[in-house]
Amino acid sequence: MYKIAVAGTGYVGLVAGACFAEVGHQVTCVDIDEKKVKLMKSGVSPIYEADLEELMQKSYVDGRIDYSTDYQSAYKDADAIFIGVGTPEQSDGSANLSYIATVARQIAESVEKDCLVIVKSTVPVGTNDKVEQFIQDFLVNDVRVEVASNPEFLAQGSAVHDTLHAERIIIGTESDWAEQVLKSIYEPFNLPIVSVNRRSAEMIKYASNDFLALKISYMNDIANLCELVGADIQDVAKGMSFDSRIGSKFLNAGIGYGGSCFPKDTKALENLARQNNYELKTVNAAIDVNEEQKTKLYKKASKRLITFSGLKVAVLGLTFKPGTDDLREAASLENIPLLLEQGADIYAYDPVGSENFAKVHPEGNNGKGTITYVANVEHALDGANVCFIFTEWGEVKAVTPETYKKLMRTPLVYDGRNIYSVQEMQQADVEYYSIGRKPISREVLMEAKNLELQKSRF
Ligand code: NAD
Repeated sequence: MYKIAVAGTGYVGLVAGACFAEVGHQVTCVDIDEKKVKLMKSGVSPIYEADLEELMQKSYVDGRIDYSTDYQSAYKDADAIFIGVGTPEQSDGSANLSYIATVARQIAESVEKDCLVIVKSTVPVGTNDKVEQFIQDFLVNDVRVEVASNPEFLAQGSAVHDTLHAERIIIGTESDWAEQVLKSIYEPFNLPIVSVNRRSAEMIKYASNDFLALKISYMNDIANLCELVGADIQDVAKGMSFDSRIGSKFLNAGIGYGGSCFPKDTKALENLARQNNYELKTVNAAIDVNEEQKTKLYKKASKRLITFSGLKVAVLGLTFKPGTDDLREAASLENIPLLLEQGADIYAYDPVGSENFAKVHPEGNNGKGTITYVANVEHALDGANVCFIFTEWGEVKAVTPETYKKLMRTPLVYDGRNIYSVQEMQQADVEYYSIGRKPISREVLMEAKNLELQKSRF
């Protein structure tokens, strides 16, 4: 059993802390946000993640986890300190390392015994070296502090499961001691461990994330071509997925990738390459495709409608993907301002994301348009002139094609997640535009009706 402190209680830090406590370590989760700490102490998770609250409550009752803003007490006698604070994107695309630097300094000023500092946050190659040097520079007591890299691969929406059943743990160390400490912290998880040096560990994280982003952008690129040449991206993906060299995951075309990782991690790696006078052409292309993809449906709808002004626009899904309340880089954040600017009256539904979205776009008048947050899909669709699907929540997928036809004033749907089959939407007489598939335009619907009419005459 190790005495562990975790700096930062976001998606990475809190989940890691709860899982370390679950396997028997003594954990203190530190955050600068007093409100969050208060919430966690009362048994409530400040973020939405399946199974997280249960783990937190169980370990809190058993005395294996605590939450605090008092970093000094938490760090001074910890065996290991995991850093899980944010590394957001800066205007030039590089990672903002100021939160990491603050924690490093707090650690240097607090530790009173030898300890291992582990960087879990996603950081550019070479950052661990700098963090170690920074800590040495500010160290107050005569103790040994070493830094190790342990990048995180969890996916939001399944973070607890991904941590307890990770496909691999990457540890990047520069000494046998650091490697042994990290290996024994992870021993109770009984998972495959890949042990490399610090710089390789840092690169594994970016190379993995950017590869997945690339896969998504590649499929979106192919989807755009499918639309032009009459192929169906879902059939194409299905056909590709049987090839074990390609694999079946991350082949879904859609409205682009979002979230707190892919957008910033592609830009950070591209920035790192540029700093080293290298052009990362593949990652650059993934970024460009994604930028255009996010507003693709909005542009299509703008061509179809004279104006959005005074139209009731139903928006289904606000978060960047289902299973999370995270809005970072979500397609909704890009498209809703465009719709509001055009004077749309938006009725938005999301099972968990509305509260966070309302912090950016409060209910009521927003520029030239309005936004109303509703508690169910039906309320959003009732009398709507057009509907945009941005997130494939189960609640959204459960809506039948007939419901759009029945509830909307004009059944016109722009689906950024390819939830429905084109055929079923056509059968339900819904005008339907999706990604990389045949559009069901008014003309297509009229043609089908005429055919039916002709058949019935004979
Ligand atoms: P987050 O923004 O959700 O959480 C960061 C937390 O750190 C916040 O609660 C903030 O208050 C706290 N914090 C800031 N300064 C602090 C300090 N000095 N001491 C203690 N707490 C402090 O971030 P996140 O999404 O968990 O991401 C953290 C890191 O992990 C990033 O580098 C990210 O790229 C990486 N990562 C994220 C994911 C993901 O799915 N979110 C997955 C893998 C890796």
